[in-house]
Amino acid sequence: MDTIYFDNNATTRVAPEVRDAMMPFFDELYGNPSSMHAFGGQVAKYVKRAREEIAAFIHADPSEIIFTSCATESDNMAIHGCAEVLGPQARIITTRVEHPAVLGPCRRLKDMGCREIELPVDGGGNLDMDAFREALKGDGPKLVSIMWANNETGVVFPIAEIAALAKEAGAVVHTDAVQVAGKIPVDVSKVPVDMLSMSGHKFHAPKGIGIFYLRRGTRLKTFMLGGHQESGRRGGTENVPYIVGLAKACELATANMAREATQVRALRDKLEQGLLATCPDARVNGDPAHRLPNTSNMSFEYIEGEAIIYHMSDLGICASTGSACAAGSLEPSHVIRAMGVPFTAVHGSIRFSLSRYNTEAEVDYVLEHMPKVVKKLRALSPFSRGDTLPVNL
Ligand SMILES: *Cc1c(COP(=O)(O)O)cnc(C)c1O
Repeated sequence: MDTIYFDNNATTRVAPEVRDAMMPFFDELYGNPSSMHAFGGQVAKYVKRAREEIAAFIHADPSEIIFTSCATESDNMAIHGCAEVLGPQARIITTRVEHPAVLGPCRRLKDMGCREIELPVDGGGNLDMDAFREALKGDGPKLVSIMWANNETGVVFPIAEIAALAKEAGAVVHTDAVQVAGKIPVDVSKVPVDMLSMSGHKFHAPKGIGIFYLRRGTRLKTFMLGGHQESGRRGGTENVPYIVGLAKACELATANMAREATQVRALRDKLEQGLLATCPDARVNGDPAHRLPNTSNMSFEYIEGEAIIYHMSDLGICASTGSACAAGSLEPSHVIRAMGVPFTAVHGSIRFSLSRYNTEAEVDYVLEHMPKVVKKLRALSPFSRGDTLPVNL
């Protein structure tokens, strides 16, 4: 059975073009770009060109791009590196719906004595801008870390407005832009963030390579001390094949973004509308007016998301609950809870996330099988509306 992969917000397939671009750097061109000899030195020019292409992808200067191992590293680097500059008086402003790679370091700083504010969202997952304006009031150093788009719901925050308000209030601004990479245009010449994180494996480059954008003039304490790589801002030998692959992924994203967004949105909408039409007591989580084109988060009331995923997995369909399944406990998603989704729907949330490689036939397959799975699980569920459930799906 073929795998039907609707879990692209978790990771993506490496594009064949990316893989091909990487191969020479495992075999012939394996030198260390920092070496004195010509064999290593020739590799440096490929890293330089890749840095230029990646910078162009987000309209940055090449000197503002730092390669990391993943977005988790970039997020930690931004938050810890900046908080160290701002000192113990720093106020950290973030949101309740961030990825753990942001919430983790923010909460660590709180444990260390910083003031930390986690802003609420509304029922559609949109940021409470009044609470944000309020949080920006008052003196003292401030760090704002707010994601560009949410990985669980696909809800896109008005990052240009957020960053402008934060800069006005004298804050340093970081955004986790992992989920927008390759889906919507990113232009740091228009969006005044100081720092931005991205991850290769979320847009068809391999796992193990991250981007950290640091606007020129932004002060940051070096997190990874070591060699002089990345102009002394991140030690460690450059991951040359992955850097080259990442540049190729950026090139593909730029060339195809508009067309792919239209194609992927059409498939996502067909899937979502089809499921709403065939599964009673289903709902969409996340404001449809402010959403990434590829993501659909849906709740199927009275049943467990984990059970749906498990049954769909048997059918070769990969989706996600988006919930952090901590130590075997079925803890509902912090994002869905922050949106105030009703109890009966919180546990039954499922995330479908599509990519350029999905097809209409795959959507049709899910539409054929998923309603049967939901119906079967509802029949076993101790929670149900009983008499109001339709008898023949
Ligand atoms: C996947 C993801 C991360 C973590 O990226 P890694 O490169 O796997 O560390 C961070 N933030 C968001 C929003 C993500 O979706």
